Amino acid sequence: MDFRPTEEQELLRRTVREFAEAEIRPHVMEWDESQHFPMELLPKLAALGLMGIQFPEEHGGSAMSAVEYCICIEELARVCPAIALSVAAHNGLCTSHIAMFGNDAQKEEFLPRLVRGEVLGAWGLTEAGAGSDAASMRTTATRQGQCWVLNGSKSFITHGSIGGVMVVMAVTDRTKGHRGISAFVLEHATPGMRAGKKESKLGMRASDTSEVVFEDCRIPATHLLGEEGQGFINTLQVLDAGRIGIAALSVGLAQGAYEAALRYSKERRQFGQPIAAFQAIQWKLADNATRIEAARWLTYRAAYLKDRGARTTRESSMAKLFASEIAVKAADDCVQIHGGYGFVKDYPAEKYFRDVKLVTIGEGTSEIQRLVIARQLLGQ
Ligand SMILES: Cc1cc2nc3c(=O)[nH]c(=O)nc-3n(C[C@H](O)[C@H](O)[C@H](O)COP(=O)(O)OP(=O)(O)OC[C@H]3O[C@@H](n4cnc5c(N)ncnc54)[C@H](O)[C@@H]3O)c2cc1C
Repeated sequence: MDFRPTEEQELLRRTVREFAEAEIRPHVMEWDESQHFPMELLPKLAALGLMGIQFPEEHGGSAMSAVEYCICIEELARVCPAIALSVAAHNGLCTSHIAMFGNDAQKEEFLPRLVRGEVLGAWGLTEAGAGSDAASMRTTATRQGQCWVLNGSKSFITHGSIGGVMVVMAVTDRTKGHRGISAFVLEHATPGMRAGKKESKLGMRASDTSEVVFEDCRIPATHLLGEEGQGFINTLQVLDAGRIGIAALSVGLAQGAYEAALRYSKERRQFGQPIAAFQAIQWKLADNATRIEAARWLTYRAAYLKDRGARTTRESSMAKLFASEIAVKAADDCVQIHGGYGFVKDYPAEKYFRDVKLVTIGEGTSEIQRLVIARQLLGQ
């Protein structure tokens, strides 16, 4: 057992931190207020290897480990959770699904553009009537000759309106329940596919979230991703890894909120002394620092096991559940420590507070994580 980061990992953390401070921090509020995802950032993210973090070098990826993936997402989230969410969805959902279950031709066709940051990846599971119960989806894919024809719509899709490549899950055989769901990969420009409503969100506003509609959208039969009927099962495997990314995002967000609160508590004076001198404030800082450290190690442990090829359903859900819930507390305490200044947009506290709520919802709510963990414990 060795809890020390390697020199390369320390360098990676410093590099991503410096990048986030220089290229993202100055624009955070502007992108948040205009709900603008900065496409101009993609070549810079790609130059650092952040658009293809865990993918093989043969496809242009950075071939980093899952632990290193966590470090990257953490450092982006510390500065801007919305950009971290987009990078995590691009890497951990769309690109990962293609890398894990695509055949050689699909990997060659789609991965290089994704990992070079020429296009953003989107991943469509959720529907208006099928959220936590994703297997009850209504979107269908019907085989017609050498094509699959998609009909239906997906909700809350990260990069639904600005993505270039999308992985979408659809019912190919309704009689087979979740074993009748398949995955497909397609270009956003495909006729019959269009972006629907763009959501106006509480937080994570720089990350595009839109509905995607399919109306007789014909895609080549070769764009079936993985085996027919395995789409939902593969999705659960993608989420086992994806949830480690959301856990890392939560740790980074909590770290950013904690650092802002620590800084402010030393500057702000009341009753003739910095508020950091009050025990009530010190205990909040101590509790948050401790919880963040615990969440970080739970997250790295899940990533470490993934790097060793283990199945991490339980560990991923534990990390996601714990890290997301302590992040909500860290953001709440950050606002509280800022007092009235935590409620206005001149300080970063209010944005962490708005952004954080997503982490207990996206890639499975806290209730669903508890359900997954309990099933693992009970051997169900
Ligand atoms: C910003 C954002 C980005 C997103 N990006 C994507 C994306 O890129 N791709 C994608 O496919 N989806 C995406 N989603 C969708 C997200 O994964 C879903 O919102 C989430 O899974 C919850 O589904 P729901 O919103 O339909 O809530 P529901 O499933 O309707 O849940 C409502 C409430 O009921 C609870 N509940 C439901 N079932 C149970 C149960 N069995 N036991 C106990 N409680 C239960 C839930 O925990 C929750 O509290 C995104 C969502 C947001 C907000």
